[in-house]
Amino acid sequence: DPQYLIALAGNPNCGKTTLFNAVTGARQHVGNYPGITVEKKEGFYQLNGSSLRLVDLPGTYSLTAYSLEELVARDFLVHERPQVVMNIVDASNLERNLYLTVQLMELGIPVVLALNMIDAAEGRGIEIDVEELSRRLQIPVIPTVARTGRGKEALLETTAKLAAENHPWNPLHISYGPDIDPALDEMEKEIIAAGLLTEMLPPRWTALKYLEADEQVLKKGRENNPELSKKLESIAHHVTDHLQKTLESYPEAIIADHRYGFISALLKGGVVKQSQKADRLY
Ligand code: GDP
Ligand code: MG
Repeated sequence: DPQYLIALAGNPNCGKTTLFNAVTGARQHVGNYPGITVEKKEGFYQLNGSSLRLVDLPGTYSLTAYSLEELVARDFLVHERPQVVMNIVDASNLERNLYLTVQLMELGIPVVLALNMIDAAEGRGIEIDVEELSRRLQIPVIPTVARTGRGKEALLETTAKLAAENHPWNPLHISYGPDIDPALDEMEKEIIAAGLLTEMLPPRWTALKYLEADEQVLKKGRENNPELSKKLESIAHHVTDHLQKTLESYPEAIIADHRYGFISALLKGGVVKQSQKADRLY
């Protein structure tokens, strides 16, 4: 029988563990990621003759190198290459939660979005056009309530189907504006010309990480291909200097602004509506 590796990713408190428990029940075990004290929960789910091995990643807001949790999550994705990431988001806080989604999509890994806590969102009068959201993101979106199990089967079926299709990684390209895009293009070209720098990372992702001065990616780049790394660092320095001089800003801030801009454009035009008839006032 085919076995698929599925990673559960999401912000802290999005209901990831609740969903994981609802799906795997007693068929789970807890260990640690190798060499560190971060807990690793794994479990299984059988579906129509295939077996899903689910791994509950640490909750993160981002995929930078700022915390052990973020490093663990992204290392797992890059090195273990799960067929699908089940990205659990808090539907009542969608805009903020999509910041991680966008980064998962920039990595290129196939994503299924679990629009969790849809009950809480509905209770607050938040209406989400699920089909339109899915169409705009071009990934499956399934409303769920992890606490009651609502949407669980649909989520698992969609995930298993996507896993079986075995899509190659297909990174999302966001525009980062006229100060950054040309540098990304240039770095991408250098990376492709030199052969891939950091094992399995998409070239544009690597380029972004050089702009963010990501310590882990820089370290690996210097080890694997010092000559290429030097070129990339030089392009990144140039951009950083330029942004400092012209905007008194820095690449990470501009990158974050554009990601949030991308998300807010995505949610415009009625994808998320706040109706007046909320059950409760917050
Ligand atoms: P994690 O940090 O992502 O693992 O989140 P947890 O699974 O620990 O859940 C955080 C809190 O949200 C818990 O109190 C859950 O009972 C609650 N929760 C999880 N899923 C849902 C849901 O779909 N609806 C509601 N209303 N609460 C939920
Ligand atoms: Mg948890």
